Amino acid sequence: MQVKLDGQTRPVNTIFCIGRNYAAHAAELGNALEAEPMVFLKPNASLLREGAPLCLPGYSRDVHYECELVLLVGRDADDIGEDGALSCIAGYGIGLDLTARDVQADAKARGLPWTRAKGFRGAACVSDFVAAAQVADPAQLQFSLSINGEQRQHGDCRLMLFPLPVLIASLAQTYGLRAGDLIFTGTPQGVGALHGGDRLQLDLHGLVQASWQVAA
Ligand code: MG
Repeated sequence: MQVKLDGQTRPVNTIFCIGRNYAAHAAELGNALEAEPMVFLKPNASLLREGAPLCLPGYSRDVHYECELVLLVGRDADDIGEDGALSCIAGYGIGLDLTARDVQADAKARGLPWTRAKGFRGAACVSDFVAAAQVADPAQLQFSLSINGEQRQHGDCRLMLFPLPVLIASLAQTYGLRAGDLIFTGTPQGVGALHGGDRLQLDLHGLVQASWQVAA
């Protein structure tokens, strides 16, 4: 699978996702806060580029949107510290960590992995990416999701429990980052269910926009 950075195609490698990175979202799902970043993965084939038809999995009756800032890793990094962490990010985009909430609730209750809830085809929706050089201060990025013209989520990186350099250094040191990896950085409050025909519009700080329509 591939994404676009400044109009150039880049192959996508691992898709990392961070859970519970905003206090208000953790609270709305009744989750405790974590002492360290909570990480899960999505399969490469779950990627869905901007504008492609968004088809919900037939085995869920409650697929939620989670609008998130997405980082595109530009170079390999294994032992990077927080100070230099942002230097390995090539671009910034916006996306949706789609979640089959009913399937996730069942997995949580039974202590099973989240893969079926979070990793189906089309579960990792991403915009094109703007080059890091065009983002003055990533720590201050804001983003939003509107559905059918009504704003549902607003995110502000200043409210992250684990700021971007902490996330990047933690992933690099534990798993190793590779050029082409994506990092979904967690969703703010306001998640909810998608329905056939919904039109989603995402905006990253006026720098990048993306839209999808849910298949009827
Ligand atoms: Mg999420």
